[in-house]
Amino acid sequence: MNGVLLAILFLFLPASSVADDLFDIKPVADGVYAAIAKPTYKVNCNAAIIFLDDVVLVVDTHSKPSAARALIEQIKKLTPKPVKFVVNTHFHWDHYQGNEAYPSSWPAGVEIISSEATRTSIEQRGIPRVKHEILTMPAEIEQLRADLHKASTPEQRASIQKDISEAEGYLAELKSMQITLPTMTFDHSLILHRKSRTVEILWLGRAHTDGDVFVFLPKEKVLVTGDALHGWTPYMGDSYPYDWIKTLDVAEKLDFDYVIAGHGDVMRDKQKFELWKQYFGDLLEQTAAAYADGATLDQAKKRVSDYLISKYADRFDPNFPKSVGSNVVKAYQVTAFAP
Ligand SMILES: [Zn+2]
Repeated sequence: MNGVLLAILFLFLPASSVADDLFDIKPVADGVYAAIAKPTYKVNCNAAIIFLDDVVLVVDTHSKPSAARALIEQIKKLTPKPVKFVVNTHFHWDHYQGNEAYPSSWPAGVEIISSEATRTSIEQRGIPRVKHEILTMPAEIEQLRADLHKASTPEQRASIQKDISEAEGYLAELKSMQITLPTMTFDHSLILHRKSRTVEILWLGRAHTDGDVFVFLPKEKVLVTGDALHGWTPYMGDSYPYDWIKTLDVAEKLDFDYVIAGHGDVMRDKQKFELWKQYFGDLLEQTAAAYADGATLDQAKKRVSDYLISKYADRFDPNFPKSVGSNVVKAYQVTAFAP
């Protein structure tokens, strides 16, 4: 095919197949971008991209080095400046497993910043999790293959086939992953004072994990929240629910107009802060009441889930009814096992 024909074809291809970018880049302020992750089989978190005079700071690195490398290619289209700082908002796999891509792309020096608690958790829990997943992924892939046999429509087949190839790619990456720990840690705050802007990296209390940090741009009024607040249903497995409400209270008092969250779209108001605080409050109160009434874990799960679904399902994402049960389990454990 000659070049002209190729160029014409390229013009008429739908945008999604022209580029296999993994992120939608959205400008939020001058030199500040949200990289909103597109859906993949192994979820990628969003990133924030912040220009700092002659260098770039990126918040979070997704679930695998190839995703971080894909974002690096997109960053290179925005600016020739090197990435000098990477922030891990917390220790969850889908926020740090791509770390190695940054020092390998800019060997001259990248600082990976996190709270002290997050670095410890990556070391103590992140590394065993990668090893565990290397052992469990083959069974997950076998299950997908079994699902493929049962698929009844071409669309289902295509979607499962895509999942299988992504799962296989992910497993291959896990096997060669060089777990890259943060190189710079702090306990409460780390502030970068640059000519063009100030970046405050803040630990405001325990929340989604014990080490969550927020990245705050006071001049641009932008707050990056990781998973302490986002557009999906909160995952509470490693959380401190009572502290989480207090931490959101503190974060909400910062002066910001835009939120770049760990998942979901950019937010332009503080509505979600109110929603999450109210949801956690109800979850804890209803679960404690069920426990006080003598409910077993299963009984509490049913009773409180029903209550929360009727009150909140239309205010969270469509997965809420599926996810709420595990939140009740967490609340029950917190209630029953509180010291
Ligand atoms: Zn998380």
